[in-house]
Amino acid sequence: MPETSETLDRVMVIAAHPDDPEFGCAGTVVKWAQAGKAITYVLLTSGDKGSHDPDLRPGRLAALREDEQRAAARDLGVQQAIFLRYPDGLLENTLELRRQLSNIIRHHRPHIVMTIDPCRPYQLHPDHRAAGQAALDAIYAAREWYIFPEQLVGEVEPWRVKEAYLFWTDNADYWEDISESIETRISALAQHASQVGLDMEKLAERIRKRARETGEQPGYEYAEGFKRFRF
Ligand SMILES: [Zn+2]
Repeated sequence: MPETSETLDRVMVIAAHPDDPEFGCAGTVVKWAQAGKAITYVLLTSGDKGSHDPDLRPGRLAALREDEQRAAARDLGVQQAIFLRYPDGLLENTLELRRQLSNIIRHHRPHIVMTIDPCRPYQLHPDHRAAGQAALDAIYAAREWYIFPEQLVGEVEPWRVKEAYLFWTDNADYWEDISESIETRISALAQHASQVGLDMEKLAERIRKRARETGEQPGYEYAEGFKRFRF
């Protein structure tokens, strides 16, 4: 299986909620970070509706979940987490969101973008669909000089992302061997204490089971699967 080119050393993960990266692609993230890639997270919402506790108001929950996400990112060797703070549960792929993501891509110039597969059938959560679609649309916008041209001032140029990796996909055509990194992924996931609760061992077993099943096709003990595009 061809390895990702070592020269593609800037990676951006665009996701809907704090914890999406740890549930979706963090075994690959930590592996790539250890290999020297610079990883940036962009979280479109701060997950402010992710609690059934009526005493936890959205503002406080958002701050808590951002802290949890920063801690998980630190564990994985992610350099930066950017929060766009759209309202949780109501995310839409608007022109404004696309404009913002295009601008971030043009400034950070990632070679690789990882995001949620928006085309997965029966993907119920609208934020997940919207996040993946907005990320793909922004990849397109960022490389075309005539889209959002007002962003192209000073040293800012159109930027062509080289590869996209879609996680939570039913159409995986690329697998990353995470046998060495799965436990780091699980401990990073545990940083999301407001989401994963106290019974981490049960969740850890579920994560291992799924990664083991994903690894069957490529022949790895544990794997993450992606739909990969090369542009
Ligand atoms: Zn999510």
